[in-house]
Amino acid sequence: MPTSNSEDTASINVDPNEVAKFEQLASRWWDRNSEFKPLHDINPLRANWIDKLAPVAEQKILDVGCGGGILCEAMAQRGAEVTGIDMGEAPLAVGKLHKFESGVEVDYQKSTAEDFAQSHPEQFDVVTCLEMLEHVPDPGSVVRACAAMTKPGGTLFFSTINRNPKAYLLAIIGVEYVLRMLPKGTHEYGKFIRPAELGQWIREAGLELDQMTGLTYNPITKTYRLTETDVDVNYMICARKPA
Ligand code: SAH
Repeated sequence: MPTSNSEDTASINVDPNEVAKFEQLASRWWDRNSEFKPLHDINPLRANWIDKLAPVAEQKILDVGCGGGILCEAMAQRGAEVTGIDMGEAPLAVGKLHKFESGVEVDYQKSTAEDFAQSHPEQFDVVTCLEMLEHVPDPGSVVRACAAMTKPGGTLFFSTINRNPKAYLLAIIGVEYVLRMLPKGTHEYGKFIRPAELGQWIREAGLELDQMTGLTYNPITKTYRLTETDVDVNYMICARKPA
């Protein structure tokens, strides 16, 4: 089960093997038919959900674990002032190059959430951290850092994968072995996070849990949709920092 240590994990909350997985694939980040197809496919759904709950135009947004910038660019296109941080050099390099292709401005920086929080306390209206918590040793520490970087009254979004037999079957066996949408080993079952665990880290960070939605995949129609009643596998949480 993922842990949340009370000790300060500022500079060490990185699993080099996890970051290496994304470094290796980074050149294909913007190829819609690559390993990143699922992220491209879910991006309009999650960007719309975020924009509905916290309209992003003119807002300062930080995307933690931004990778090659799929969410960053969507937020910038909606008029947000976006900063993206990641520990992968190659994903950041891809993001910096892709800006020229798409003509949007995003400020990409190499940092952990914990280190960035030291220099950016209460700087952002919205902080997003999607599909990243299940790749770090101490996800609770990332949640605390995200909370520290959010302005009072601001909004945070987290997404990850639930931990139960159905999630194991669909997210690992189905996605990596049967449908082969992601390389084997992309996800580790033990790192998946139950909504109750994420909810507890959110409350412990002084945030209020606002709402949650599931994100389900239909392998027949090959489409995704938001399903509030089904958070069994992929899900997103919206949290607010009290004013
Ligand atoms: N959030 C993006 C990318 C998800 S892939 C999206 O949803 O589109 C996960 C990303 O987390 C990778 O780019 C990886 O390099 C990054 N990552 C993993 N561990 C990290 C850490 N400790 N700090 C910052 N980024 C990390």
